Amino acid sequence: MGSSASKEDGSPSPDEDDKRSDSSSCAHYLDHLISIGVRLVVLDFDSTIIDVHTSGRWKESAKSLSKHVRPVFLALMKAVIEQKGLYLAIATQSPQTDLIRKVLKERLPFHHKEIVIKGEDRTWERVDGIPKGGKQQHIEAVKRELDEKCHVQFSSNEILLIDDDFINVGIALSYDFKAITFEKDESIEKILNLTRESAKINADK
Ligand SMILES: [Mg+2]
Repeated sequence: MGSSASKEDGSPSPDEDDKRSDSSSCAHYLDHLISIGVRLVVLDFDSTIIDVHTSGRWKESAKSLSKHVRPVFLALMKAVIEQKGLYLAIATQSPQTDLIRKVLKERLPFHHKEIVIKGEDRTWERVDGIPKGGKQQHIEAVKRELDEKCHVQFSSNEILLIDDDFINVGIALSYDFKAITFEKDESIEKILNLTRESAKINADK
């Protein structure tokens, strides 16, 4: 991946800022995700990656919203992208996908292009036979894009959804996806430990 460089005034670049958010320790925790078969990580945006809910109507700049990205998700996103064999996507009900892309560019300048974003921006088609509820249609659109661009396919149990909305999580689990409900201020250890429980729930079915 791209290397980072300090700005001429000595202040850290955004990428160095990302490094301070502990992506190396996060990479260690990814071992667990890989061991339970996760290949695609799908994150919700509002009240998950960021600590506010925009309701799809953010009027201020992307830069100001980028200050709301939770360090734990900054670290997780960077680690997932840097991990060979893992893919990263965002599934959101927000129509402001251009804004989300700019927010990611602010915080992950060398990585943001590798994140697939599917929101309510009318740029993709719904698919018959896929549940309309939760993030299922968004995830299907993510799968189609990764198949077209990278020629990779994923089965349901290789996909992990992390979302603050327990209804979305429940729907995903009912279709054999791995999914966890994010509650604010959780650590990376807590988030990934929860995936153990999710995996156990799936195994017990
Ligand atoms: Mg949310």
